[in-house]
Amino acid sequence: MTKIVDHLKASDETLFSFEILPPIKGHGIQKLFNQVEPLMEFRPKFIDVTYHREEYVYKKKQNGLLEKVSLRKRPGTVGICAALMNKFQVDPVPHLICGGFSKEETESALMDCHFLGIDNVLALRGDAIKSEQRFVPTEGGHAYASELVKQISDMNKGQYLYQEDEGAESTNFCTGVAGYPEKHFEAPNFNTDLKHLKRKVDLGAEFIVTQMFFDNDKFFDFVDRCRAADIHVPIIPGLKPLTTLRQLSILPSIFFIDLPDELVQAVEACKTNEDVRKVGIEWSINQCKELKKRNVPCLHFYSMGKSDNIKTIASEIF
Ligand code: FAD
Repeated sequence: MTKIVDHLKASDETLFSFEILPPIKGHGIQKLFNQVEPLMEFRPKFIDVTYHREEYVYKKKQNGLLEKVSLRKRPGTVGICAALMNKFQVDPVPHLICGGFSKEETESALMDCHFLGIDNVLALRGDAIKSEQRFVPTEGGHAYASELVKQISDMNKGQYLYQEDEGAESTNFCTGVAGYPEKHFEAPNFNTDLKHLKRKVDLGAEFIVTQMFFDNDKFFDFVDRCRAADIHVPIIPGLKPLTTLRQLSILPSIFFIDLPDELVQAVEACKTNEDVRKVGIEWSINQCKELKKRNVPCLHFYSMGKSDNIKTIASEIF
């Protein structure tokens, strides 16, 4: 399949792409297909599929004692990518995280992708599991996304773990990484965060997808800072249309982003969630129009299980 950077290079126009979540364990793939299908008319060149780490939960045993069990709520990222390729002939981008993986497990996951013809991945560290205060690397795994990028770059050179085989086949991954227009919440300051972002690029990342933002100036400023820091790969803006009043507090607390005053006031004036949805769509359309005018390579939407609002926005933009 085609590398994301080649898709971007081949087009003078701003492209359209989106991110989906694997279904909750036990649910079929049809619902996901129904969500993807209406967006295919906008010819997305790629679709990202998130990866969800295990969580620990306590289950009551028959004797009344609690047992700590590991639960993965949304498994199946790589399988879904293969199914998307098969059904829609689109390039899938599986997200791969450090948390929960040893390097060997990462290597196996990457080999599955390679054998399936999945040549694009988004390399991430992942967040702390819910029961932990901060991210703790898995034993034998990576502590930062940059280390994961390096492992992928090594495989692209035919270098596998603990193996000296001159004839080993090289993989052909195009690796993307995350960037934060409002800074990653753990970074002590913006410049340090950019230094770490640059490291990911120097180790082989070929494109950046940003965290969601609602103020385009933050994105433009981020791009300027990246260029000044010698980061020259394409930077794809991540967008999320607001859909509920609750998101006014949830999004900033989960993603460490600010919502502009004007947007907050417009949402607070809404009487129903349907009104909020309309405000969210309008805000996103205005963001997209400006971003497109400034020639961003692609508009990337976080669907979070909803496609109707993205369809409305895409119909105005593409
Ligand atoms: P890193 O690049 O490793 O950075 C993490 C922090 O460590 C930053 O503060 C950075 O400045 C700092 N840092 C980096 N290197 C060093 C170093 N050498 N020394 C000291 N500090 C360092 N999470 C999921 O679980 N699944 C997903 O599918 C998923 N998809 C995402 C998609 C996008 C586009 C984005 C923006 C985020 C996504 N996330 C996902 C969330 C992401 O995993 C978290 O934001 C996580 O906290 C950081 O991941 P990272 O890859 O940016 O980490």
